[in-house]
Amino acid sequence: MNYFSSDFKLGILGGGQLGKMLLFDTRKFDIQTYVLDPSDQAPCKIACDQFFKGDLMDFETVYNFGKKVDVLTFEIELVNLDALVKLEKEGLKVYPSPKTLKLIQNKGIQKDFYIKHTIPTANYKRFDDLKSLVVSILDSKTKLPFVWKCTEFGYDGNGVKVIRHISDLDNLANVECIAEEMVPFKNELAVIVCRNPSGEIKTYPVVEMEFHPEANQVEYVICPARINDKVAEKARAIALNVSEKFNHVGLLAVEMFQTEDDEILVNEVAPRPHNSGHYSIEASYTSQFENHLRAILDLPLGNTDSKVAGIMVNLVGSAGFSGDVIYENIEKILGWNGVTPHIYGKKQTRPFRKMGHVTIVNEDINEARRIAEEVKNTIRVISGQ
Ligand code: ADP
Repeated sequence: MNYFSSDFKLGILGGGQLGKMLLFDTRKFDIQTYVLDPSDQAPCKIACDQFFKGDLMDFETVYNFGKKVDVLTFEIELVNLDALVKLEKEGLKVYPSPKTLKLIQNKGIQKDFYIKHTIPTANYKRFDDLKSLVVSILDSKTKLPFVWKCTEFGYDGNGVKVIRHISDLDNLANVECIAEEMVPFKNELAVIVCRNPSGEIKTYPVVEMEFHPEANQVEYVICPARINDKVAEKARAIALNVSEKFNHVGLLAVEMFQTEDDEILVNEVAPRPHNSGHYSIEASYTSQFENHLRAILDLPLGNTDSKVAGIMVNLVGSAGFSGDVIYENIEKILGWNGVTPHIYGKKQTRPFRKMGHVTIVNEDINEARRIAEEVKNTIRVISGQ
């Protein structure tokens, strides 16, 4: 198929920042794109060829959108699965496949998949609702502490809570959930795998998520991770295995824990470009977005190696500010070597809303880390009032 400067249309479900960054590459290749998103102010709106406003969870809306395009992909997992299944049955290429998405959308089903395929993961139990979890604790069948996770619709840690006392369950939604063993990890790692329908498969280097010591928020994504080669090799091999077992097409971000004794446990996966791969736009030979595009169009995959060390700092709305956004001190950080801000295009900031990120590249990873900290301490996402 001729994708380039042609009538071919790539459909993207979701018009957020991941879609917007993917559109840089569709523009680079002159590939036409249609985007569906519920918000009139979606970041993708300015860069796609045609924008459609609509509910991503609505069967008819997703199905009708799918009928307009030649290949369909998504940048968010919360989309109507039945519509994707029907579109695929009718011959549309949907990548990643709805079968994979079904295994991933529910954390309980995802964990069962790891067990079935002997992929190392933390022990867990599944519960239909909070009440049955409480009964299991009272019967001493589930031991405290553990990590509670709702199986669906959680994101960025909002469906996850450490339970040390039974009273920690108060105020949690009475929904399907899992209780997972607490992992005493020394590092959180991630590996992005890309795979095309022909089976060509590549991994990006292992990255490390460095957390704020108190806020428990990812502060820096660091590539390459500061771990020894043996652990890195193990992490990449496990990620490759996970992608193959899912028979995945497109990008798969595999989040993992490195335990105190250097075991690797898979935490969860995301079937799309991922926050942990944003550094690749500046630091890699081929960005994760370009490789996602290459993979879903069954083109040869690009080189996933890094040219330099890369560190990413998320730009989230500062606490106490809501309204028209201002990026305080952005000019200052633009004056520093190897510093590139990405502004997603959300006009309104709210506390902790993901508004952008900054990539820092440098030949020397320690120097990159030093500059990243200065960036973090300098730029602030605030509002006008
Ligand atoms: P989300 O899908 O919202 O990102 P995760 O499952 O990745 O949720 O969990 C969010 C964070 O909670 C993880 O990045 C990690 O810091 C912590 N966490 C998750 N599971 C465990 C666990 N079993 N043991 C210890 N910490 C965990």
